Formats: sequence, structure tokens, C-alpha cells
Amino acid sequence: MNIKEIRQLFPILDQQVNGKDLVYLDSSATSQKPFPVIEAVSTYYKEYNSNVHRGVHTLGTRATDQYEGAREKVRKFINASSIEEVIFTRGATTALNFVASSYGRASLKQGDEIVITYMEHHANIIPWQQAAKATGATLKYIPLQEDGTISLADVEATVTSNTKIVAVMQVSNVLGTINPVKEIAKIAHQSGAVMVVDGAQSTPHMKVDVQDLDCDFFAFSAHKMCGPTGVGVLYGKKALLENMEPAEFGGEMIDFVDLYESTWKELPWKFEAGTPIIAGAIGLGAAIDFLEDIGLENIYKHEHSLAEYALDKLSGTEGLTIYGPKERAGILTFNLEDVHPHDVATVLDAEGIAVRAGHHCAQPLMKWLKVSATARASFYLYNTEEEVDKLADALIRTKEYFTNVF
Ligand code: PMP
Repeated sequence: MNIKEIRQLFPILDQQVNGKDLVYLDSSATSQKPFPVIEAVSTYYKEYNSNVHRGVHTLGTRATDQYEGAREKVRKFINASSIEEVIFTRGATTALNFVASSYGRASLKQGDEIVITYMEHHANIIPWQQAAKATGATLKYIPLQEDGTISLADVEATVTSNTKIVAVMQVSNVLGTINPVKEIAKIAHQSGAVMVVDGAQSTPHMKVDVQDLDCDFFAFSAHKMCGPTGVGVLYGKKALLENMEPAEFGGEMIDFVDLYESTWKELPWKFEAGTPIIAGAIGLGAAIDFLEDIGLENIYKHEHSLAEYALDKLSGTEGLTIYGPKERAGILTFNLEDVHPHDVATVLDAEGIAVRAGHHCAQPLMKWLKVSATARASFYLYNTEEEVDKLADALIRTKEYFTNVF
């Protein structure tokens, strides 16, 4: 499929915003959805909307088959060894909260350490802050190199025999840094710690193999990888999940309920309390089929070359600071001298270009960068060099506009 054919599968891209062709450069916040995903979700509602697992009627069986079929697609997509290790959640945030509460709070004690990095998203910071407060454990940060990468020497210096949990993002949603999580997992394991990976920004863009990474937990969201909002995945190694208490309780996750005691279903269902996210999971399954049809390697190559093109094109722009390393995923975070990033985003929006401005749920990283906010353009499989050109031209005009007005 060429880029034109890919774009035609995303109906939302074919529109004008403020009188200009839409240039959507905010896929790190959420990606757009192709027809096969929209159709999978609407077919569920139109043809076989029904609750799963309990019903014996035909629609219920079809819904269960599709829902559980999506779990198998996820298993293959991340190469988990069994479907028992694939839990559907509301998203990466919920998945990370489950790990911090069900695993973290139950296993941590005073004197233990949780190690994260300065570049983490709030979803991979606050659950650990709370787990540390609840248990008396200490939260420690791996420092960043000047270019926004992590050195393994710093990981080794931070992780000690007291470290019980190391939690790191695979790809930064701000800097685009691709972290060596496989090597970090090795260091964590040498110290007897478990490795948690926030894969929210990696699964949409590159092939992930949880067995090769040898991580203990892995979290991601469907909506950043062409799937619906409100659904995501927690992968966990079976041996760990088996010994964990569920994070939520109620219907669906029980085996037997008595007046004062209850027992849980087997994995993975003991972690899925209540009516699950049926349409969402089915949509995620369709998104996986779609991404695999195009090929994660092709998607990665396309975005990587767009990021390189954008870096080349923009790096000479007067007054433009670009944050993060040269080798990066398709994310470009920047500031224009003397122009607030919200103003940059507003002016770009007037030209039909959607970029994000703010702290990107990474306030400790903003502190490290010594800024309160940045603007961010993020690329996905449907973006083109022509769109990067439009961004570059619009940024020059933005700079001129603010120089002349103020
Ligand atoms: N981690 C990272 C790196 C992210 O970019 C995001 C989403 N911005 C999250 C976690 C949280 O994902 P969600 O909001 O889908 O739960």
C-alpha cells in the first residue's frame, strides 16, 4: 500500500480545518482510525452487540469469540507466551496503576526502591509515587544525558540490591528517545527487580516482543495505534500474575461467591472485573490486523525518515529549539524563541495544522528541560513530507508574525 492508499483509509484526514487541508501532527496524543477499525466496532454494535462469557445465545457466543479472538491477536502482536498473560484494561494508565497497586503495594516495604526515569509520563510516575507513600519504599530517578537519552552506566549506578521495581518507557512521548529497555531489564533482573515497560508510544510504531525484551509487565493503549479509545492492555508474566490479587472486584472475575469469602477465576479473567470493554477490544484486534498488514517495520521506517526529514528541514530555523536526541521516533518537540507554545499551536491551527502544546503529561521532564511547556509535532503512518514542509513554512511565518507584532 502506498501513502496515498493508506491516507484514503482514514476518512477524517479528508477534510479542511480553518479553510486549509488538515495536517494532523498529533498522533502521539491519539492516532486517527482507519475504516477497518471503525467498521469492526460498528459491526459489533449493528450485528452482534451482546455481553460476553455468560450468554449461551448466538449473539453472546459471537461476541465472546470476537472478544477472545482479539486477545489472541494481542498475544501474537506482542509475542506473549499465552493468552493468560494478556489483560484488557481501560488503557496504559489503568494497566500501570494495576501493576503499582496489585504488584507494587503488595510486595514493597520500607527500604525497598522503585526506579524510574526523568522522562516518564505521569502515568508511569504517579502510581509509583503513591505506591512508595503507601509502603514506605523510596522512589529514585535515573538521570538523563544532555541529549535526552539514558546511559546504561547511569542505570547500573541507580539500581541497587534494594531495587524491587524498575519502570521505564520504551519511547518518550516528548523527546522521541528510544530507550534500551531490553538492556535495562537485564540490569533490573541482575538486582532481583521486576521490569515494567510503558509501551504506550512504542507499540503503535515498532515491533514489540515482550519475551525478547524479557520485561515482566508491559502496558499500552489501543487509541495510539489506530484502535478505539478506552481500551488497552496489561501484559504480565504468568508466574507474577498468578500470585497477584486483582485490582478490581465484582462480576465476571469470580469463580465462586459466598457470604464472606469469594474465589477468583483463572487468568486472565480474574483481572477483568465487570462487563469488559467488548467493542474496544474488537476494535483493537482490527487495528492490529491493519498495522500488521502494512507491517510494523514499514511504519517504523516511514516515521523515522519523516523525523529525519523534519529535523533536517527545521534545524536551521532561526529561534527554533528542538529537544531530544538525533536518533528518535517520529516525535518532534520544540519551542520558538519568545513565542509561547500555546500561541504556536493556535497559529498553526489557523493553518489547519494540529500540533500539541503543553507539558505533555511529563512535568518532571519539563523541569529537566527548564521549560514550562513545549509544542510537539508527532508523525504516524499517514503523514507525508509535504505535511512536514507545511509545518516548516508555517513555523517561519509564526516567528515572523510574533516578531513583527511584538
Ligand atoms: N505513557 C505514555 C508514554 C503516553 O504517551 C501516554 C499517553 N499520552 C500514556 C502513558 C497514557 O496513556 P493513556 O492516556 O492512553 O492511558
